[in-house]
Amino acid sequence: MAKHKVKCPSCEQSFYREDEEYVQVKNRYYHKKCYIERNKNDIIIDSIHCKMRELCGNAYNKKRIDSKISAYKKMGFTPIGIKKTLDYWYDIKKNDPSAAYGSIGIVEYVYGEAMDYWEEKEKSKHQYNETNFDKWKKSLEPKIIHTNSTVTTKPKRLKLFHLE
Ligand SMILES: [Zn+2]
Repeated sequence: MAKHKVKCPSCEQSFYREDEEYVQVKNRYYHKKCYIERNKNDIIIDSIHCKMRELCGNAYNKKRIDSKISAYKKMGFTPIGIKKTLDYWYDIKKNDPSAAYGSIGIVEYVYGEAMDYWEEKEKSKHQYNETNFDKWKKSLEPKIIHTNSTVTTKPKRLKLFHLE
C-alpha cells in the first residue's frame, strides 16, 4: 500500500504519516512535536498581548505588537525571550509603560540585557538547589564502588552475565 506523504506546515518538511507521530488539523498534518511547539508559542504570544493590554490600557495596540513579534522572530528572538524581556523591563526594572505607546519596541534594545538577567537568576537558583536539596539528596544515595576484582577472580560469574 502506498504511504501518505504530507508536508508539515510548521517546519515545512515532508514526511510519511505512517512513519511519524502527527497531529491533523483540518486537512493539514503537523509533526506532533512541531504542533506542540507551535501551540506553546501561540500561548506565549497570547500572554505577551495579555500583559501589554494590562500595562497600556487604552493605548494597547494589538496590530503593532503582532508586527513587532514577527519582525523580532526574523531577528532570532523567541516568543518566550520576548515575554521574558517584557517581564524584566516592567516587573523587575519597574519602567513606565506609558513610554511604550501601546507596543513592544523596547524589546530590541533590552533583549540581551534581559536574557543576561534571567540566565544569571537561573544560575543562582541552581546553585541554591545544589547547596541544599540536591546535596542532601545525594548524601542519601548508596555509595557504589566499582572495581574489576570480581571479573578477574570469578570468571564463572562473568559468563552468567553474558547469557542475559
Ligand atoms: Zn514539522
